[in-house]
Amino acid sequence: MSHRPAAGPPDRFRGRRRSVLSTHAAPAGLVVVLAALAVFSVTASVSNASAAAKAELSVDVSEWADQAEASLADQEALTDERAEEDSAEAEAEYWAAVAATREALQHISSATHGLESATAHEWMALQDGYEAAVADLLVVARVTPEATEEYEDTHVDAYFDAIKDVVEEESREHRQRADEALSGLRRLQELLLWVTPAAFGAGLLLVAWCTTVLVRSRREAAARADENRRQALHDALTGLPNRTLLRLRAEEALAAAQDGVGTVALMLIDLDRCKEINDTLGHAYGDIVLEAVGDRLRAAVRDTDTVARLGGDEFAILLPRVDDVDAARQLAARVQAALDPSIEADGATLDVDASIGIALAGVDGTDVSALLRDADIAMYAAKDRSLGVCVFDAGLNSHSPERLGLLGDLRRAIEAGELVLHYQPKVTSTGEVCGVEALVRWQDPERGLVPPGVFIPLAERTPLIHALTRYVIDSALAQCARWAADGRHLQVAVNVSARNLVDDGFVDDVLERLATRGLPASALELEVTESAIMADPVRARHILGRLAAAGVTLSIDDFGAGYTSLAHLKGLPVHQLKIDRSIVAQMTSDVGDAVIVRSVIDLGHHLGLTTVAEGVEDQATWRALRAAGCDLAQGFHLGRPMPAEQFEQWIDREWSAVAT
Ligand code: C2E
Ligand code: MG
Ligand code: MG
Repeated sequence: MSHRPAAGPPDRFRGRRRSVLSTHAAPAGLVVVLAALAVFSVTASVSNASAAAKAELSVDVSEWADQAEASLADQEALTDERAEEDSAEAEAEYWAAVAATREALQHISSATHGLESATAHEWMALQDGYEAAVADLLVVARVTPEATEEYEDTHVDAYFDAIKDVVEEESREHRQRADEALSGLRRLQELLLWVTPAAFGAGLLLVAWCTTVLVRSRREAAARADENRRQALHDALTGLPNRTLLRLRAEEALAAAQDGVGTVALMLIDLDRCKEINDTLGHAYGDIVLEAVGDRLRAAVRDTDTVARLGGDEFAILLPRVDDVDAARQLAARVQAALDPSIEADGATLDVDASIGIALAGVDGTDVSALLRDADIAMYAAKDRSLGVCVFDAGLNSHSPERLGLLGDLRRAIEAGELVLHYQPKVTSTGEVCGVEALVRWQDPERGLVPPGVFIPLAERTPLIHALTRYVIDSALAQCARWAADGRHLQVAVNVSARNLVDDGFVDDVLERLATRGLPASALELEVTESAIMADPVRARHILGRLAAAGVTLSIDDFGAGYTSLAHLKGLPVHQLKIDRSIVAQMTSDVGDAVIVRSVIDLGHHLGLTTVAEGVEDQATWRALRAAGCDLAQGFHLGRPMPAEQFEQWIDREWSAVAT
């Protein structure tokens, strides 16, 4: 069953990421629109001011042009008057008109072209010329009155007309500019009439949008927090409460049960065939089974009960209020009945059995940890004794201390170096002993010889397996180095467990020990079962890859036991296939087994692997294996596992007799 976290982010996370982007886009959009509005309002007021200035200038120029025209007309009239009869009064008025004209011309030229511009000088030169011509005219009028008119036409009027043209032209031009500026101003104001409310509206929309985005992102943050809380308290695969939430609910139930009505019961459910399903069909099927089991358990209990998945293939049901142990037993029977029908998974029909342990608060424990511990003991008792359901009682407790005691003694035995290794020979088809398999033995002073089949599975459930494997590798390599020093070059094989294959420090540890003993990596072989690899295939492959790259020989142990998937073999960085003794042992009596053994040998060779037969118990089997092309053999017929010194005597004295 899957212990993995759900792969990849689910879709809801993708949606969330999109909404985070949109909340980031909001301030950017806001800034762009506000900047556009600011640019527009600055441009509008600059245009407004420029149009107003233009209009003002034009009005000014027009006014001065009017004055210039008037004073020019006065100049002309007074010139005529003086030509006929010059008087002091007319002269004074003439010079006043001249001054007015000069002032107007100066004003106009400085306003339009600048005070010191060429135009201003040109205009003043015209006025100078006019005044000089008038002075000459007055002389002509006095000396030759009959030539006055002609002189005026030819000399004075030219200047007069030129000045008048300039003034009229300037006045017209500025009036036109003023008109244009004013109509531009009008257009701008009309535009502003529309744009101002539109900008205001856009601003309002922006504020509304920002508010919506803010509210939405707050809501999303709250939903995210809820989801995180939910994930922290639930199992990703089945959606059921996890161990943490179960404990919380159990604490609440225990507190509520203080009123004395009923009691709290905890039921632990361990599925019996899940590992097999995972090993045989793969994790996808295991996951389907776990989900189906979760659904069925939920359907079998009351709404007030809590069904939780504690990890792997272990479930729990918390009954916050049960009358007595019989009520709990009845529910356990309902659970068993619910799990009874086969589970259809992708065309496969799968059956699971469950071992159920029950513990009752008050009777068996008063806090959550005690309840969990007692339900666990009851569950193991149900499993060990194939009871199906077991209710905890104090008598069962003896099993648990026994297990704990065994582990404690094992730890002490490892630390004290009391475990010994026996070595079983591996023999080539030509009868040469090419290596040994190291098999651990524990001679306990009180228990006697404890077989590895008893203590290894126990150690494998705890971190103690790391110390044990290190101990075995170290002892086996020490022995290997001693033999090498004596001229016996034997490869030594050590069995490793699933937990070793997920230990990141394992490879460095192995290589360091080889280096310490001065041995090449090829002196060591590591045997792993396929199910150990499949417990966490990705990490196991990585670790095996590093070991293979370093030159350590890798074997698949017990191949053919149970339901081995051939597909898994393909990409594994292994060198040897050890055919399980369950099929080797029968190959001379069972045609089917003989075919399987031959097929496995062929398969191994096609995959470039060396084949090793385990459990060779007689000469006929060995002969049949050699005939089938099996590369190596191991078994009681060839040599039993032996202590190192006995092995040395065996190889020197007895082996040559058996080999022939
Ligand atoms: P395995 O690795 O498959 O080792 C072979 C087992 O088959 C050994 O049992 C060996 O004594 C037994 N055997 C060998 N030839 C024959 C035969 O011809 N007939 C029969 N009936 N049995 C034969 P053992 O020593 O009891 O070990 C059992 C299992 O315990 C090993 O199976 C291995 O999985 C595990 N084991 C032993 N030592 C260690 C160790 O140091 N570390 C780990 N992790 N596991 C170990
Ligand atoms: Mg082995
Ligand atoms: Mg084996």
